[in-house]
Amino acid sequence: MSRLVLVLGDQLSPRLSSLKAADRQRDTVLMAEVWAEATYVPHHKKKLAFVFSAMRHFAEELRSNGWRVIYRRLDETGEASSLSSEVTRGLRETGATGVLVTEPGEWRLREDMATWPARLGVPVDCREDDRFLCSHADFRAWADGRRQFRMEYFYRDMRRRTGLLMDGDEPAGGRWNFDAENRKRAERDLLMPTPLRVTPDAITRDVLDLVGSRFSGNFGTLEPFWFAVTRHDAEAALDRFIADALPRFGDFQDAMLEGERFLYHSVLSTYINIGLLDPLDVCMKAETAWRNGAVPLNSAEGFIRQILGWREYVRGIYWLRMPEYVSLNTLGHTRPLPAFYWTGDTQMACLRSAIGQTRDEAYAHHIQRLMLTGNFALLAGIDPAAVHEWYLAVYADAYEWVEVPNTIGISQFADGGLLASKPYASSGAYISRMSDHCRGCRYDVKQRTGDKACPFNALYWDFLARHRTRFEGNPRMAQMYRTMDRMGEAALAEARARGQRLLATIDTL
Ligand SMILES: Cc1cc2nc3c(=O)[nH]c(=O)nc-3n(C[C@H](O)[C@H](O)[C@H](O)COP(=O)(O)OP(=O)(O)OC[C@H]3O[C@@H](n4cnc5c(N)ncnc54)[C@H](O)[C@@H]3O)c2cc1C
Ligand code: SF4
Repeated sequence: MSRLVLVLGDQLSPRLSSLKAADRQRDTVLMAEVWAEATYVPHHKKKLAFVFSAMRHFAEELRSNGWRVIYRRLDETGEASSLSSEVTRGLRETGATGVLVTEPGEWRLREDMATWPARLGVPVDCREDDRFLCSHADFRAWADGRRQFRMEYFYRDMRRRTGLLMDGDEPAGGRWNFDAENRKRAERDLLMPTPLRVTPDAITRDVLDLVGSRFSGNFGTLEPFWFAVTRHDAEAALDRFIADALPRFGDFQDAMLEGERFLYHSVLSTYINIGLLDPLDVCMKAETAWRNGAVPLNSAEGFIRQILGWREYVRGIYWLRMPEYVSLNTLGHTRPLPAFYWTGDTQMACLRSAIGQTRDEAYAHHIQRLMLTGNFALLAGIDPAAVHEWYLAVYADAYEWVEVPNTIGISQFADGGLLASKPYASSGAYISRMSDHCRGCRYDVKQRTGDKACPFNALYWDFLARHRTRFEGNPRMAQMYRTMDRMGEAALAEARARGQRLLATIDTL
């Protein structure tokens, strides 16, 4: 019996569970660029080009390793194409009598695949995705019986389980977490590292032409396009990050600087999520750099925590809580997403910068996502479903399993605090402390009211006042409400009135 081995666009790893279970003499690999996947959200042009080009390169890699591969390009599959229609065609053409696949990273696709045996009339062997370091069963066992989930405890378990940054039973350096040392403000540096930029080859150029012509109306600039699209180049990007940026990653993890799009961040999520880099290898290389004395412990630990902790943790939550998780809206926010999220056309310098670079790079680092675009949407009461669709569309690393918990849970507090112990809401003061955006802004970060006052300020107090009943009992928010009470009723009313005026004219800010 021969099988069709379906490899999805974010499964570009030779050690994929479906490939490990397949027989390269007998089975045929199917990879397909289909309209249903390319259009279910209006993906950034660079995201589409990255995924298609990396898929085409991976198909070549499989062929050169002896696999028989059917590869369908978008211009061959047609506008009605979906994964199931391409699998049906592949079964017919090869005479295969079964489908082998590694589970997808999105709920909607897993639900769809569950209907395939009946619809396609063949068995579908759907394997767990073991490229993650915590299996579904292990995460369920960890979560079972806990009233509150906290990433820090999950992360410690993962350190013990993998042995990463452990000295025997103890955390390396005697502490699990060096975050207290990781909140420095960045200064401009002429020697600021930059991510590796790869010149597009002929395959990528073809894809750029395709995306440029078929998706010209989508968000984002297509060129210059410099993402790595092969394992070899992604490894080179990792090595460059470890040598140039990781040493200062920890110190400046939370910093932002106007015009510095990457700072000391790795810009590796795009490669890890699509399968070009293996998360455990990435962590082990960072640990080795620390053990060799090339990188301080606060940087190695801070970086490994993001991958071993946050990345695994949000994925666990996604599968534990879907399908209802994506529709949660505990704070009852209903305002539409302001138009400037799609244009960057706003007078708020910090948002203009974050959205502008999102348009150009399909990338923003964590603090830009959390404390600029996410924070503003939260304060302004934007519908979390609209916020989720935006994040899913505009970032090259965005797949539901990782984007939904970050947006719905961590950023918008729409899950009522399952993931975050308090909302990531801040006034302009935080942005001013962690960045230099305010210097070039039309608004004044020191003012709360008046036409020149920073919109984040009034919106922050309005948000806290609006949700007082929910949040005032939260010990982590007690200080904020004490400050609010010290403002006095008249000042608060004035700030809230300004907040309401801002919301009424939100598209003009
Ligand atoms: C609203 C919102 C939406 C987000 N959407 C996505 C998304 O669609 N895809 C995505 O990969 N990340 C998402 N993140 C998490 C994080 O912002 C990105 O992983 C990170 O900015 C990627 O850039 P980097 O590779 O330079 O990361 P670095 O800062 O260099 O971090 C190293 C690695 O750690 C991992 N990581 C860091 N933070 C997180 C996190 N919170 N959750 C999961 N992994 C993490 C990534 O693999 C990343 O490459 C989102 C965060 C927020 C607040
Ligand atoms: S003043 Fe306010 S809107 Fe302007 S950059 Fe600073 S925080 Fe952003």
